[in-house]
Formats: sequence, structure tokens, C-alpha cells
Amino acid sequence: MRALYRQRLQALRELLARQRVEALLVTHLPNIFYLCGFTGSSGALLVEPDRATLITDPRYSTQACDEVHVARVRVAAQGLLTAVAGLLAGRRRRLKLAFEAAHVPVSQRDELVRRLGRQVHLRGVAGWVEALRARKDAEELERMRASAALACQVWTEVLPLVRPGVRELELAAEIEYRMRRAGASGPAFDTIVASGARAALPHGRATAKQLQKNELVVFDWGAILRGYCSDLTRTVFLGRAPARIRKWYDVVRAAQQAAWAMLRPGVAAEAVDAAARSVLQRHGLARYFTHSTGHGLGIEVHEEPRLARRQKTRLEAGHVVTIEPGIYLPGMGGIRIEDDLAVTPVGATPLTHVPRELLEL
Ligand code: ZN
Ligand code: ZN
Repeated sequence: MRALYRQRLQALRELLARQRVEALLVTHLPNIFYLCGFTGSSGALLVEPDRATLITDPRYSTQACDEVHVARVRVAAQGLLTAVAGLLAGRRRRLKLAFEAAHVPVSQRDELVRRLGRQVHLRGVAGWVEALRARKDAEELERMRASAALACQVWTEVLPLVRPGVRELELAAEIEYRMRRAGASGPAFDTIVASGARAALPHGRATAKQLQKNELVVFDWGAILRGYCSDLTRTVFLGRAPARIRKWYDVVRAAQQAAWAMLRPGVAAEAVDAAARSVLQRHGLARYFTHSTGHGLGIEVHEEPRLARRQKTRLEAGHVVTIEPGIYLPGMGGIRIEDDLAVTPVGATPLTHVPRELLEL
């Protein structure tokens, strides 16, 4: 791992040089984890041309020394920013320092300016480390494959428990418990179990509602394993599905396949979204598709690239994305199918492997 972290820091330094800044203060924790492996919840990583320094608070001193081998570790008793100011004090000339504007609250930004204003030229920036993170290396792909496999395994375990009378919350608890038991550090997000009319809510968190016969049930779940997320959705029907529900399901599945077939390097993210949308359009269902077709996945559950309208980003080998078209019919329920795919030099390969046909339970 040490060599990988060095490579990632090197790629960041090349980006800093292109952007004509000398250092970046990284404060977004997923970015810190990506660059040096630190998993604590309090830290700032100062990346300079010739060194990197992780500043954390005393609660994490042992953990930081165990986890971080590519940066010096400094323990700050009086606040991270005070420590950063201390590190930069006494520099002979003004330094051009970038900071992650979206991840520094205004109050802290003011403090940065107040403490560092004289020593450094500050520049708020966005998305620099995230841009590097979008393209996964072999180690990351391996972890993501394992995270997806774990989530798939749990699905096969939980399916037999899905029946009328069971509460959404019980099924969500089973999914999360089994993911943890299989080694996950936790769920990637609050598990969604939405049944009946509630399935028309794209982000319906599980409630005490009992599943009933002749209902659609949408499950959306994922694990965090060794720092990497998985994210899947499956829709089942309790009983024999009426013809129109089968028809709708097949259209959503065809929309997923159409978007999936678009995945290869060079294709614009908006074209993948358009492919799913046009299938739904042909069947008069596009207006019920109320979110984007997919999103990048990795250390965070929503990353670059976003597969949505007006997203010009071009896909690259190493991107990992979800493809998750869905339709939501108020009062009736909803249907969504979501899989995780890695873009390869010639197309895309799925990380998730559970059947995609409509299950009638
Ligand atoms: Zn999802
Ligand atoms: Zn998703």
C-alpha cells in the first residue's frame, strides 16, 4: 500500500504544479484516506512538494502512527488549523497554498486567513483530489469487487426472509447486521426498504410498515468494506405480478441495459443518462424517472462521474459507476434496478452479480 499512496501523492503534486500552487491543505476525510490511509475522523493533510504532514488530534495519535507511513504525523493539542499555521510559520517566502473550499466551513476559512494571511497566499479550490479518485487503481478495483460481492451475498441470505407480514425495518436490520457480520465496517448508507405505495419514494428509508401481498418492494443497500462502498437496488413483487407491472419492470431493465451498453472510455456521462431515458421515453415512462441514471462510487457512495443530464465528463477506464434507472408511480409503487460497473478499456464489467429478473415471491 505504501507504494500506492506514494503514487497518489505524486499524481496530486503533478496536479498542484500544473495549477501553479505549491501546497494543498486536504481537509475532506475521504480524500485524506485516499492519499495516506488514515481512517480517523479528525485530520488535515498538508501536501507540499517534498513532504506530506498529517495533523490529527491526540485521540488519534496511536492510530495515525499505525496507519500512515507516507506522511509525517503531528499531533495537535490546540486545533488542527493552529497546528497548520505553526507548520507554515517561519517560511522564508510567501507560499501559494490551496485549500478545499467545499470542506472548510466559513468560520475556519476566516481563521485560516487570519492565522496564515501574512505567510501564505490562500486559494480555495474544489474537486482536485476527487478528480484523481474517480479513476480507480487495481487495488481499489479489488476492494470494490469484494465490497460488491459481500452485498450480493447478503441479498441471497435475506431473500428467504422477504414475505408478507415482515416489517421493512426488520429486513433493513437483517441486511445491515449480515453485512457487518461478513466483515463490512458498516452500511454505505441507510438501507432502503420501501414497500407498496412507499416504493414510489426513490429514497424511502425503512419504516415499521409490514410488507403485504401484491406489493412491489424496493431494496437499496450497500456495504463499506476496507474503505470502499457498494450500492445495489433490487425490486421484488410479493405474489404473481400483474401484466402491467411485468411490462414496467422489463422497460426499466431495458433502460438499464441500454445505459450499460454505452459504458466505454470516451463516452460523455450525459450520453449514458440519455440512453436510459430514451428507453423509458419510448414507453411513455420518462416522466416517472425522477433522478439521474447513475453516479461514481468508491470511498464515498456518490462520487465523480455523475451520469446525469448536462454532464459532459468523458468516461475513462477505471471509473466505477452505478446504473440505476427507476420509475416511481405515485400511489402505485416504484421499480428500480441498480448495479455497479467498472469501465474497462473496451467497455464495462459488472461488480455486482445477482439476478436482475423480476422476482415474484
Ligand atoms: Zn443505491
Ligand atoms: Zn446509487
